[in-house]
Amino acid sequence: MAIESINPATNKLLRSFEPLTSEAARQKIALAADAFRAYTNVPLEHRALWMRKLAAILEHETKDLATLITLEMGKPLEAARYEILNCADVCRYYAEHAARILAPESVPTEDNHSYVRWEPLGIVLAVMPWNFPFWQVFRFLAPALMAGNVALLKHASNVPQCALAIESLVRRAGFPRGTFQALLIEVNQVETVLADERIAAVTITGSETAGRAIGAQAGWLIKKSVLELGGSDPFIVMPSADIDLAVETAVRARCVNSGQSCIAAKRFIIADEIYDDFEARFVKGMESVRVGDPMKADTEIGPLATARILEQLEAQVKAATRVGARVLTGGERMLGEGNYFEPTVLAGVPRASVVYREELFGPVAMLFRVQDINEAIEIANDTPFGLAASAWTRVPAEQQRLISDLQCGGVFLNAMVASDPRLPFGGIKRSGYGRELSAAGMREFLNAKTVVIASVSSANDTAGKPYQLSTTDPPKVR
Ligand code: NAP
Repeated sequence: MAIESINPATNKLLRSFEPLTSEAARQKIALAADAFRAYTNVPLEHRALWMRKLAAILEHETKDLATLITLEMGKPLEAARYEILNCADVCRYYAEHAARILAPESVPTEDNHSYVRWEPLGIVLAVMPWNFPFWQVFRFLAPALMAGNVALLKHASNVPQCALAIESLVRRAGFPRGTFQALLIEVNQVETVLADERIAAVTITGSETAGRAIGAQAGWLIKKSVLELGGSDPFIVMPSADIDLAVETAVRARCVNSGQSCIAAKRFIIADEIYDDFEARFVKGMESVRVGDPMKADTEIGPLATARILEQLEAQVKAATRVGARVLTGGERMLGEGNYFEPTVLAGVPRASVVYREELFGPVAMLFRVQDINEAIEIANDTPFGLAASAWTRVPAEQQRLISDLQCGGVFLNAMVASDPRLPFGGIKRSGYGRELSAAGMREFLNAKTVVIASVSSANDTAGKPYQLSTTDPPKVR
Protein backbone atom coordinates (compact mmCIF):
# COMPACT_ATOMS: atom_id res chain seq x y z
CA MET A 1 0.00 0.00 0.00
CA ALA A 2 1.27 3.48 -0.82
CA ILE A 3 2.55 5.68 2.02
CA GLU A 4 0.44 8.81 1.73
CA SER A 5 1.01 12.36 2.89
CA ILE A 6 -2.45 13.91 3.40
CA ASN A 7 -3.20 17.44 4.58
CA PRO A 8 -5.44 16.94 7.65
CA ALA A 9 -6.93 20.43 7.29
CA THR A 10 -8.43 19.51 3.89
CA ASN A 11 -7.93 15.75 3.61
CA LYS A 12 -6.32 16.35 0.20
CA LEU A 13 -3.49 14.06 -0.88
CA LEU A 14 -0.17 15.93 -0.95
CA ARG A 15 2.20 13.16 -2.07
CA SER A 16 2.34 9.42 -2.22
CA PHE A 17 5.34 7.09 -1.93
CA GLU A 18 5.78 3.41 -2.72
CA PRO A 19 7.15 1.55 0.32
CA LEU A 20 10.69 0.21 -0.04
CA THR A 21 10.96 -3.32 -1.33
CA SER A 22 12.59 -5.83 1.02
CA GLU A 23 15.72 -5.72 -1.13
CA ALA A 24 15.89 -1.91 -1.01
CA ALA A 25 15.49 -2.00 2.78
CA ARG A 26 18.33 -4.58 3.01
CA GLN A 27 20.57 -2.29 0.94
CA LYS A 28 19.93 0.58 3.31
CA ILE A 29 20.81 -1.63 6.28
CA ALA A 30 24.04 -2.64 4.50
CA LEU A 31 24.87 1.01 3.88
CA ALA A 32 24.24 1.79 7.57
CA ALA A 33 26.51 -1.09 8.62
CA ASP A 34 29.31 0.19 6.36
CA ALA A 35 28.76 3.72 7.63
CA PHE A 36 28.99 2.59 11.26
CA ARG A 37 32.40 0.96 10.75
CA ALA A 38 33.86 4.29 9.64
CA TYR A 39 31.69 6.65 11.67
CA THR A 40 32.49 5.11 15.01
CA ASN A 41 36.10 6.26 14.54
CA VAL A 42 35.23 9.84 13.60
CA PRO A 43 36.55 12.12 16.36
CA LEU A 44 33.93 13.57 18.63
CA GLU A 45 34.87 17.12 17.64
CA HIS A 46 33.97 16.38 14.02
CA ARG A 47 30.61 14.96 15.00
CA ALA A 48 30.01 18.07 17.13
CA LEU A 49 30.83 20.32 14.17
CA TRP A 50 28.27 18.54 12.01
CA MET A 51 25.73 18.63 14.83
CA ARG A 52 26.16 22.40 15.22
CA LYS A 53 25.82 22.82 11.46
CA LEU A 54 22.60 20.81 11.64
CA ALA A 55 21.30 23.21 14.31
CA ALA A 56 22.20 26.18 12.13
CA ILE A 57 20.40 24.76 9.09
CA LEU A 58 17.31 24.06 11.19
CA GLU A 59 17.29 27.65 12.38
CA HIS A 60 17.91 29.03 8.91
CA GLU A 61 15.13 26.97 7.34
CA THR A 62 12.64 27.09 10.21
CA LYS A 63 9.83 28.61 8.17
CA ASP A 64 9.90 26.03 5.36
CA LEU A 65 10.32 23.08 7.72
CA ALA A 66 7.52 24.31 9.97
CA THR A 67 5.25 24.69 6.96
CA LEU A 68 5.98 21.10 5.97
CA ILE A 69 5.06 19.87 9.47
CA THR A 70 1.81 21.83 9.45
CA LEU A 71 0.86 20.60 5.99
CA GLU A 72 1.51 16.96 6.84
CA MET A 73 0.09 16.66 10.36
CA GLY A 74 -1.91 19.83 10.98
CA LYS A 75 -0.34 21.44 14.06
CA PRO A 76 -0.56 25.25 14.12
CA LEU A 77 2.31 26.85 12.26
CA GLU A 78 3.59 28.72 15.31
CA ALA A 79 3.83 25.46 17.25
CA ALA A 80 5.65 23.87 14.31
CA ARG A 81 8.18 26.73 14.27
CA TYR A 82 8.76 26.21 17.99
CA GLU A 83 9.28 22.50 17.35
CA ILE A 84 12.02 23.15 14.79
CA LEU A 85 13.80 25.53 17.17
CA ASN A 86 13.65 22.89 19.91
CA CYS A 87 15.38 20.50 17.51
CA ALA A 88 18.19 23.02 17.00
CA ASP A 89 18.50 23.30 20.80
CA VAL A 90 18.82 19.56 21.32
CA CYS A 91 21.52 19.36 18.61
CA ARG A 92 23.49 22.10 20.36
CA TYR A 93 22.96 20.50 23.78
CA TYR A 94 24.54 17.21 22.70
CA ALA A 95 27.26 18.89 20.62
CA GLU A 96 28.29 20.71 23.79
CA HIS A 97 27.79 17.97 26.39
CA ALA A 98 28.69 14.74 24.58
CA ALA A 99 32.36 14.90 25.61
CA ARG A 100 31.36 15.08 29.27
CA ILE A 101 28.75 12.33 29.02
CA LEU A 102 31.02 10.01 27.01
CA ALA A 103 34.16 10.59 29.08
CA PRO A 104 35.51 7.38 30.64
CA GLU A 105 34.50 7.19 34.29
CA SER A 106 37.28 6.23 36.61
CA VAL A 107 36.12 4.01 39.48
CA PRO A 108 38.36 3.48 42.53
CA THR A 109 38.87 -0.25 43.21
CA GLU A 110 41.64 -2.30 44.74
CA ASP A 111 43.02 -2.84 41.22
CA ASN A 112 45.53 -0.52 39.61
CA HIS A 113 43.04 1.10 37.30
CA SER A 114 39.31 0.56 36.77
CA TYR A 115 37.01 2.56 34.60
CA VAL A 116 33.84 2.56 32.51
CA ARG A 117 34.24 3.19 28.82
CA TRP A 118 31.16 4.22 26.81
CA GLU A 119 30.93 2.62 23.38
CA PRO A 120 28.26 2.93 20.66
CA LEU A 121 26.17 -0.14 19.89
CA GLY A 122 25.86 0.19 16.10
CA ILE A 123 22.70 0.64 14.04
CA VAL A 124 19.69 1.78 16.06
CA LEU A 125 16.24 1.48 14.49
CA ALA A 126 13.93 4.35 15.47
CA VAL A 127 10.18 3.83 15.06
CA MET A 128 8.63 7.24 15.49
CA PRO A 129 5.21 8.93 15.74
CA TRP A 130 3.71 11.80 13.76
CA ASN A 131 2.69 14.10 16.63
CA PHE A 132 6.06 15.87 16.88
CA PRO A 133 7.44 14.65 13.56
CA PHE A 134 10.76 16.49 13.94
CA TRP A 135 11.21 16.78 17.71
CA GLN A 136 10.61 13.10 18.44
CA VAL A 137 13.22 12.16 15.84
CA PHE A 138 15.78 14.78 16.83
CA ARG A 139 15.72 13.98 20.52
CA PHE A 140 16.82 10.46 19.57
CA LEU A 141 18.99 11.40 16.60
CA ALA A 142 21.18 14.02 18.32
CA PRO A 143 22.46 11.83 21.18
CA ALA A 144 22.64 8.72 19.00
CA LEU A 145 24.82 10.30 16.31
CA MET A 146 26.97 12.21 18.82
CA ALA A 147 27.66 8.91 20.59
CA GLY A 148 28.86 7.28 17.36
CA ASN A 149 25.80 5.18 16.62
CA VAL A 150 24.10 5.29 13.22
CA ALA A 151 20.34 5.25 12.75
CA LEU A 152 17.50 4.08 10.56
CA LEU A 153 14.18 5.87 10.87
CA LYS A 154 10.82 4.20 10.31
CA HIS A 155 8.64 7.25 10.65
CA ALA A 156 4.84 7.26 11.01
CA SER A 157 3.24 6.57 7.66
CA ASN A 158 1.42 9.94 7.55
CA VAL A 159 4.62 12.02 7.70
CA PRO A 160 6.88 10.60 4.95
CA GLN A 161 7.90 14.05 3.73
CA CYS A 162 9.12 14.99 7.21
CA ALA A 163 11.13 11.74 7.32
CA LEU A 164 12.84 12.49 4.00
CA ALA A 165 13.44 16.12 4.97
CA ILE A 166 15.24 15.03 8.16
CA GLU A 167 17.43 12.59 6.22
CA SER A 168 18.36 15.35 3.81
CA LEU A 169 19.13 17.84 6.62
CA VAL A 170 21.50 15.38 8.30
CA ARG A 171 23.38 14.82 5.02
CA ARG A 172 23.57 18.53 4.28
CA ALA A 173 25.02 19.15 7.73
CA GLY A 174 27.96 16.97 6.70
CA PHE A 175 27.27 13.64 8.39
CA PRO A 176 28.62 10.82 6.20
CA ARG A 177 26.32 8.93 3.85
CA GLY A 178 24.46 6.14 5.66
CA THR A 179 24.73 7.56 9.18
CA PHE A 180 21.05 8.50 9.17
CA GLN A 181 18.53 7.10 6.69
CA ALA A 182 14.76 7.21 6.45
CA LEU A 183 13.19 3.86 5.63
CA LEU A 184 9.83 4.36 3.96
CA ILE A 185 8.42 1.03 5.03
CA GLU A 186 5.08 -0.24 6.28
CA VAL A 187 4.36 -1.56 9.75
CA ASN A 188 4.49 -5.16 8.58
CA GLN A 189 8.09 -4.66 7.37
CA VAL A 190 9.38 -3.51 10.77
CA GLU A 191 9.69 -7.05 12.09
CA THR A 192 12.04 -8.11 9.29
CA VAL A 193 14.21 -5.01 9.67
CA LEU A 194 14.49 -5.42 13.44
CA ALA A 195 15.34 -9.11 13.05
CA ASP A 196 18.29 -8.28 10.79
CA GLU A 197 21.45 -9.19 12.69
CA ARG A 198 23.06 -5.89 11.78
CA ILE A 199 20.45 -3.93 13.77
CA ALA A 200 21.73 -3.56 17.33
CA ALA A 201 18.84 -1.86 19.11
CA VAL A 202 15.46 -0.22 18.71
CA THR A 203 13.62 2.77 20.10
CA ILE A 204 9.89 3.22 19.65
CA THR A 205 7.80 6.24 20.49
CA GLY A 206 4.14 5.53 19.95
CA SER A 207 1.11 3.72 21.20
CA GLU A 208 0.99 0.90 23.70
CA THR A 209 0.08 -1.52 20.91
CA ALA A 210 3.14 -0.65 18.86
CA GLY A 211 5.37 -0.64 21.94
CA ARG A 212 4.14 -4.05 22.99
CA ALA A 213 4.82 -5.54 19.53
CA ILE A 214 8.29 -4.05 19.20
CA GLY A 215 9.26 -4.60 22.84
CA ALA A 216 8.24 -8.24 22.63
CA GLN A 217 10.23 -8.81 19.46
CA ALA A 218 13.27 -6.95 20.77
CA GLY A 219 13.12 -9.03 23.95
CA TRP A 220 12.97 -12.23 21.98
CA LEU A 221 15.88 -11.13 19.81
CA ILE A 222 17.75 -9.92 22.92
CA LYS A 223 18.21 -6.44 21.50
CA LYS A 224 18.24 -3.32 23.60
CA SER A 225 14.97 -1.38 23.41
CA VAL A 226 13.53 1.88 24.66
CA LEU A 227 9.75 2.31 24.75
CA GLU A 228 8.28 5.82 24.96
CA LEU A 229 4.56 5.17 24.96
CA GLY A 230 1.29 6.84 25.82
CA GLY A 231 0.20 8.73 28.88
CA SER A 232 -2.86 9.94 30.74
CA ASP A 233 -1.13 12.54 32.87
CA PRO A 234 -2.90 13.95 35.91
CA PHE A 235 -3.14 17.70 36.59
CA ILE A 236 -3.84 18.14 40.31
CA VAL A 237 -4.98 21.45 41.78
CA MET A 238 -5.12 21.92 45.58
CA PRO A 239 -6.80 24.85 47.37
CA SER A 240 -3.58 26.82 48.00
CA ALA A 241 -2.73 26.98 44.28
CA ASP A 242 -2.62 30.15 42.23
CA ILE A 243 -5.96 29.40 40.59
CA ASP A 244 -5.65 31.94 37.76
CA LEU A 245 -2.34 30.49 36.67
CA ALA A 246 -3.50 26.92 37.23
CA VAL A 247 -6.59 27.38 35.02
CA GLU A 248 -4.66 29.12 32.26
CA THR A 249 -1.98 26.42 32.34
CA ALA A 250 -4.59 23.65 32.48
CA VAL A 251 -6.12 24.83 29.21
CA ARG A 252 -2.70 25.07 27.55
CA ALA A 253 -1.63 21.70 28.98
CA ARG A 254 -4.73 19.98 27.54
CA CYS A 255 -4.63 21.75 24.16
CA VAL A 256 -0.88 21.61 23.48
CA ASN A 257 -0.27 20.16 20.01
CA SER A 258 -4.04 20.19 19.39
CA GLY A 259 -4.34 17.80 22.33
CA GLN A 260 -2.11 15.19 20.69
CA SER A 261 0.82 15.01 23.07
CA CYS A 262 1.83 12.12 25.28
CA ILE A 263 2.52 14.59 28.11
CA ALA A 264 -0.58 16.69 27.62
CA ALA A 265 -2.58 16.81 30.86
CA LYS A 266 -5.56 14.54 30.40
CA ARG A 267 -7.13 14.04 33.85
CA PHE A 268 -7.81 17.17 35.91
CA ILE A 269 -8.08 16.34 39.62
CA ILE A 270 -9.39 19.28 41.58
CA ALA A 271 -9.86 19.78 45.34
CA ASP A 272 -13.53 20.10 46.41
CA GLU A 273 -13.00 23.54 47.98
CA ILE A 274 -12.09 25.12 44.63
CA TYR A 275 -13.72 22.64 42.25
CA ASP A 276 -16.77 24.71 41.18
CA ASP A 277 -14.70 27.81 40.54
CA PHE A 278 -12.05 25.84 38.65
CA GLU A 279 -14.63 23.99 36.55
CA ALA A 280 -16.43 27.18 35.50
CA ARG A 281 -13.18 28.93 34.54
CA PHE A 282 -11.65 25.89 32.87
CA VAL A 283 -14.75 25.32 30.72
CA LYS A 284 -14.70 29.01 29.72
CA GLY A 285 -11.00 28.70 28.89
CA MET A 286 -11.55 25.63 26.71
CA GLU A 287 -14.40 27.41 24.91
CA SER A 288 -12.20 30.38 24.11
CA VAL A 289 -9.41 28.36 22.44
CA ARG A 290 -9.19 29.33 18.76
CA VAL A 291 -9.71 26.29 16.53
CA GLY A 292 -9.10 26.64 12.82
CA ASP A 293 -6.76 26.77 9.86
CA PRO A 294 -3.34 25.73 11.21
CA MET A 295 -1.61 28.02 8.72
CA LYS A 296 -3.13 31.10 10.39
CA ALA A 297 -0.94 32.86 12.94
CA ASP A 298 -3.57 33.09 15.70
CA THR A 299 -4.83 29.48 15.51
CA GLU A 300 -4.32 27.55 18.74
CA ILE A 301 -5.82 24.17 17.77
CA GLY A 302 -5.62 22.70 14.29
CA PRO A 303 -7.20 19.56 12.88
CA LEU A 304 -6.37 16.17 14.33
CA ALA A 305 -3.64 14.51 12.32
CA THR A 306 -5.69 11.82 10.60
CA ALA A 307 -9.32 10.89 10.00
CA ARG A 308 -8.73 7.72 12.03
CA ILE A 309 -7.64 9.68 15.10
CA LEU A 310 -10.75 11.88 14.81
CA GLU A 311 -12.99 8.81 14.61
CA GLN A 312 -11.27 7.22 17.60
CA LEU A 313 -11.63 10.33 19.77
CA GLU A 314 -15.26 10.75 18.79
CA ALA A 315 -15.92 7.10 19.70
CA GLN A 316 -14.20 7.55 23.09
CA VAL A 317 -16.32 10.61 23.95
CA LYS A 318 -19.48 8.72 22.96
CA ALA A 319 -18.38 5.74 25.07
CA ALA A 320 -17.84 8.08 28.05
CA THR A 321 -21.32 9.62 27.78
CA ARG A 322 -22.89 6.17 27.40
CA VAL A 323 -21.53 5.24 30.83
CA GLY A 324 -22.73 8.44 32.47
CA ALA A 325 -20.14 11.16 31.79
CA ARG A 326 -21.51 14.71 31.39
CA VAL A 327 -20.31 16.89 28.52
CA LEU A 328 -19.67 20.36 29.98
CA THR A 329 -18.63 21.79 26.62
CA GLY A 330 -17.85 20.50 23.13
CA GLY A 331 -18.19 16.79 22.52
CA GLU A 332 -18.59 16.77 18.74
CA ARG A 333 -16.53 16.73 15.57
CA MET A 334 -16.78 20.04 13.74
CA LEU A 335 -18.66 20.35 10.48
CA GLY A 336 -16.86 21.06 7.20
CA GLU A 337 -13.64 19.72 5.74
CA GLY A 338 -10.70 18.66 7.88
CA ASN A 339 -10.39 16.52 11.02
CA TYR A 340 -11.55 19.08 13.58
CA PHE A 341 -12.91 18.20 17.03
CA GLU A 342 -14.37 20.68 19.52
CA PRO A 343 -12.37 21.37 22.69
CA THR A 344 -14.28 19.23 25.15
CA VAL A 345 -14.65 18.90 28.92
CA LEU A 346 -16.14 15.78 30.47
CA ALA A 347 -17.13 15.39 34.12
CA GLY A 348 -18.19 12.28 35.97
CA VAL A 349 -16.34 9.72 33.84
CA PRO A 350 -16.69 6.54 35.96
CA ARG A 351 -13.34 5.22 37.08
CA ALA A 352 -14.55 1.70 36.36
CA SER A 353 -15.15 2.54 32.67
CA VAL A 354 -12.92 1.51 29.80
CA VAL A 355 -12.48 5.07 28.57
CA TYR A 356 -11.15 6.25 31.95
CA ARG A 357 -8.22 3.88 31.54
CA GLU A 358 -7.49 4.94 27.94
CA GLU A 359 -5.47 7.83 26.55
CA LEU A 360 -7.59 10.60 24.97
CA PHE A 361 -5.40 11.83 22.10
CA GLY A 362 -7.12 15.11 21.26
CA PRO A 363 -8.53 18.19 23.06
CA VAL A 364 -10.76 16.31 25.51
CA ALA A 365 -10.35 16.80 29.28
CA MET A 366 -11.75 14.70 32.12
CA LEU A 367 -12.52 16.47 35.43
CA PHE A 368 -12.56 14.82 38.86
CA ARG A 369 -13.53 16.25 42.27
CA VAL A 370 -11.51 15.09 45.30
CA GLN A 371 -11.79 15.69 49.04
CA ASP A 372 -8.09 15.83 49.92
CA ILE A 373 -4.52 15.17 48.82
CA ASN A 374 -4.84 11.45 49.59
CA GLU A 375 -7.73 11.05 47.19
CA ALA A 376 -5.97 13.23 44.61
CA ILE A 377 -2.90 10.97 44.65
CA GLU A 378 -5.06 7.86 44.66
CA ILE A 379 -6.89 8.93 41.47
CA ALA A 380 -3.71 10.25 39.84
CA ASN A 381 -2.08 6.84 40.24
CA ASP A 382 -5.19 4.95 39.17
CA THR A 383 -4.11 4.59 35.55
CA PRO A 384 -2.18 2.02 33.56
CA PHE A 385 0.17 4.83 32.46
CA GLY A 386 2.97 6.58 34.32
CA LEU A 387 4.51 9.26 32.16
CA ALA A 388 4.39 12.54 34.14
CA ALA A 389 2.23 14.69 36.42
CA SER A 390 1.57 18.36 37.03
CA ALA A 391 0.46 19.36 40.52
CA TRP A 392 -0.44 22.74 41.95
CA THR A 393 -0.05 23.60 45.64
CA ARG A 394 1.93 26.04 47.76
CA VAL A 395 1.91 23.80 50.85
CA PRO A 396 5.38 22.26 51.36
CA ALA A 397 4.04 19.09 53.00
CA GLU A 398 1.69 18.51 50.06
CA GLN A 399 4.52 19.13 47.62
CA GLN A 400 6.62 16.46 49.33
CA ARG A 401 3.74 13.97 49.26
CA LEU A 402 3.21 14.58 45.54
CA ILE A 403 6.91 14.26 44.70
CA SER A 404 7.25 10.99 46.57
CA ASP A 405 3.87 9.34 45.97
CA LEU A 406 2.99 10.08 42.34
CA GLN A 407 3.90 7.02 40.28
CA CYS A 408 5.37 8.42 37.08
CA GLY A 409 8.56 9.48 35.29
CA GLY A 410 8.37 13.18 36.18
CA VAL A 411 6.60 15.48 38.64
CA PHE A 412 6.17 19.16 37.80
CA LEU A 413 5.02 21.33 40.71
CA ASN A 414 3.18 24.55 39.84
CA ALA A 415 4.29 24.08 36.23
CA MET A 416 3.22 22.39 33.04
CA VAL A 417 4.92 19.13 32.07
CA ALA A 418 7.46 19.71 29.30
CA SER A 419 10.56 18.07 27.89
CA ASP A 420 13.98 19.67 28.30
CA PRO A 421 17.25 18.38 26.77
CA ARG A 422 18.93 18.70 30.20
CA LEU A 423 16.45 16.44 32.02
CA PRO A 424 15.62 12.74 31.57
CA PHE A 425 12.29 12.08 29.87
CA GLY A 426 10.33 8.83 30.00
CA GLY A 427 7.78 6.84 31.88
CA ILE A 428 7.03 3.85 34.05
CA LYS A 429 4.18 1.31 34.00
CA ARG A 430 2.60 1.07 30.53
CA SER A 431 4.12 4.39 29.46
CA GLY A 432 7.20 2.32 28.71
CA TYR A 433 10.79 2.08 29.87
CA GLY A 434 14.09 3.76 29.25
CA ARG A 435 14.82 7.46 29.01
CA GLU A 436 15.40 10.08 26.36
CA LEU A 437 17.31 13.38 26.67
CA SER A 438 20.09 14.31 29.15
CA ALA A 439 22.98 11.93 29.86
CA ALA A 440 20.48 9.14 30.61
CA GLY A 441 19.04 9.33 27.07
CA MET A 442 22.45 9.19 25.43
CA ARG A 443 23.52 6.20 27.50
CA GLU A 444 20.52 4.06 26.52
CA PHE A 445 22.31 3.04 23.33
CA LEU A 446 25.83 2.73 24.69
CA ASN A 447 27.75 -0.22 26.00
CA ALA A 448 29.01 0.60 29.50
CA LYS A 449 32.19 -1.41 29.07
CA THR A 450 33.94 -2.19 32.34
CA VAL A 451 37.71 -2.06 32.11
CA VAL A 452 39.86 -3.36 34.96
CA ILE A 453 43.63 -3.23 34.73
CA ALA A 454 45.24 -4.94 37.65
CA SER A 455 48.75 -4.37 39.00
CA VAL A 456 50.98 -7.34 38.28
CA SER A 457 53.47 -8.48 40.79
CA SER A 458 55.90 -11.14 39.74
CA ALA A 459 59.40 -12.40 40.31
CA ASN A 460 60.81 -10.29 37.50
CA ASP A 461 60.61 -6.99 39.25
CA THR A 462 57.34 -5.57 37.95
CA ALA A 463 55.61 -5.34 41.34
CA GLY A 464 53.80 -2.07 41.76
CA LYS A 465 54.43 -0.88 38.21
CA PRO A 466 51.46 0.15 36.05
CA TYR A 467 50.13 -2.73 34.03
CA GLN A 468 50.85 -2.55 30.28
CA LEU A 469 48.21 -3.97 27.97
CA SER A 470 49.53 -6.71 25.73
CA THR A 471 47.75 -8.59 22.99
CA THR A 472 49.25 -11.84 24.21
CA ASP A 473 47.89 -11.59 27.76
CA PRO A 474 45.36 -14.27 28.62
CA PRO A 475 41.95 -12.95 29.70
CA LYS A 476 41.69 -12.48 33.45
CA VAL A 477 39.10 -14.55 35.24
CA ARG A 478 38.06 -13.69 38.79
P1 NAP B 1 1.41 4.44 16.76
O1 NAP B 1 0.22 4.18 15.96
O2 NAP B 1 1.83 3.44 17.75
O3 NAP B 1 2.60 4.72 15.73
C1 NAP B 1 3.90 5.04 16.16
C2 NAP B 1 4.88 4.39 15.21
O4 NAP B 1 4.83 2.98 15.38
C3 NAP B 1 4.55 4.65 13.74
O5 NAP B 1 5.75 4.75 13.03
C4 NAP B 1 3.79 3.40 13.36
O6 NAP B 1 3.82 3.13 11.98
C5 NAP B 1 4.54 2.35 14.14
N1 NAP B 1 3.77 1.17 14.46
C6 NAP B 1 2.46 1.08 14.78
N2 NAP B 1 2.13 -0.19 15.06
C7 NAP B 1 3.25 -0.94 14.91
C8 NAP B 1 3.54 -2.32 15.06
N3 NAP B 1 2.63 -3.20 15.42
N4 NAP B 1 4.81 -2.73 14.82
C9 NAP B 1 5.76 -1.85 14.46
N5 NAP B 1 5.54 -0.52 14.30
C10 NAP B 1 4.29 -0.07 14.54
O7 NAP B 1 1.29 5.80 17.56
P2 NAP B 1 0.87 7.19 16.95
O8 NAP B 1 -0.60 7.20 16.85
O9 NAP B 1 1.66 7.50 15.74
O10 NAP B 1 1.40 8.17 18.09
C11 NAP B 1 0.64 8.50 19.19
C12 NAP B 1 1.07 7.71 20.41
O11 NAP B 1 2.42 7.96 20.69
C13 NAP B 1 0.30 8.13 21.62
O12 NAP B 1 -0.04 7.03 22.40
C14 NAP B 1 1.30 9.01 22.36
O13 NAP B 1 1.05 9.15 23.72
C15 NAP B 1 2.57 8.31 22.05
N6 NAP B 1 3.71 9.21 22.24
C16 NAP B 1 4.56 8.97 23.29
C17 NAP B 1 5.62 9.82 23.51
C18 NAP B 1 6.59 9.60 24.65
O14 NAP B 1 7.67 10.18 24.64
N7 NAP B 1 6.27 8.79 25.63
C19 NAP B 1 5.82 10.90 22.67
C20 NAP B 1 4.94 11.11 21.63
C21 NAP B 1 3.89 10.24 21.42
P3 NAP B 1 2.58 3.54 11.03
O15 NAP B 1 2.43 5.01 11.13
O16 NAP B 1 3.01 3.08 9.70
O17 NAP B 1 1.38 2.83 11.57
